[in-house]
Amino acid sequence: MTRIRELSFSRLDVPLIEPFGIATGAQVVAHNVLVHVRFDDGTEGLGEAAPFPAVNGETQESVLAVLPEAARALTGRAATRFRPLALAAREAVGAVKSALCAVETALLDAFCRRAGLSLWEFFGGSEAELETDITIPTGDVERAHTAALRARDAGFGTLKVKVGGTDPEMDLARLRAIGSAAPNAKLILDANASLSADEAVRLLDALDELRARVVLFEQPTAAEDIEGLRTVLERGRVAVAADESARSAADVTALARAGAGNVVNVKIMKTGVLEAWDMVAAARAAGLGLMIGGMVETELAMTTSASLAAGVGGFRFVDLDTPLFLGERPLVGGFARTGARLSLGEAGPGHGVRASAHSGKPATVQG
Ligand SMILES: [Mg+2]
Repeated sequence: MTRIRELSFSRLDVPLIEPFGIATGAQVVAHNVLVHVRFDDGTEGLGEAAPFPAVNGETQESVLAVLPEAARALTGRAATRFRPLALAAREAVGAVKSALCAVETALLDAFCRRAGLSLWEFFGGSEAELETDITIPTGDVERAHTAALRARDAGFGTLKVKVGGTDPEMDLARLRAIGSAAPNAKLILDANASLSADEAVRLLDALDELRARVVLFEQPTAAEDIEGLRTVLERGRVAVAADESARSAADVTALARAGAGNVVNVKIMKTGVLEAWDMVAAARAAGLGLMIGGMVETELAMTTSASLAAGVGGFRFVDLDTPLFLGERPLVGGFARTGARLSLGEAGPGHGVRASAHSGKPATVQG
């Protein structure tokens, strides 16, 4: 029987080209963590944790603090029984879900490599391509305008605009600048839980003719403000996605019952991979639309998410753009990107992502 020989991890610090700002804070360097698993038959797998402090308080340090316990819990166990392993990892890491995501990804990567499968095939291989949006982070009007021009020229048809955490007039001015720079683009607004329902509806109303181009309003209100999500859906006359409010399959079912939003943003980084997969099933069962997203991640976690979404199929919104914000390429492989199009057909085995030859071997903290 093949067993897990070793689970180790190291810091993965990736500078960004420019700050990735959302309503509640910004990142200038992605302080992520790389997890490496090795089976006793030599098969290896990699996973990534991308803690985003401004979203849920997780940090690189909190990830590094719980991984030794995961290594202890998994070493020596049967390597090909993914679900019992994922359950043990979940218990070991507690609330630090990005750490769980990294461990599960590394295990699945190794499992699929051993089986000669890509992760995309493992999840079902439904669609060979996804079309991602690109994010316009918070910042001034000039910066928003420049970013929108760049996105248009690069072939992106959907722009996701971070709103909230500022004067509403600033958001309006940014949205108008973006709208004129990319006149054919669809718009997704994401407030990252920073507005009241009234503020969100007022923002939509103030958009005038731009409003028709808004295809989704992501998490306008606080994570606990379920009623607010429902209000924006009803009074805003726009699709509403739950992101910060949807952190488990049980959350998805409760949101559906409450009529709070009609789309769920699934992120392996906020729940782990298995729970994300369960959220997809819960959303489908409840008739909710699906979005795939992430934190500030490299190709590793993003290809894993893309493999889930394209493998299962039927995702209406795809937000897997953060590799475009990275100033270095410490990892190579994974999906092939042409403009907004992400191709999974040639990725793999596993997610297909490996350390770049130029990056050197990261210092490994033994688990
Ligand atoms: Mg979001």
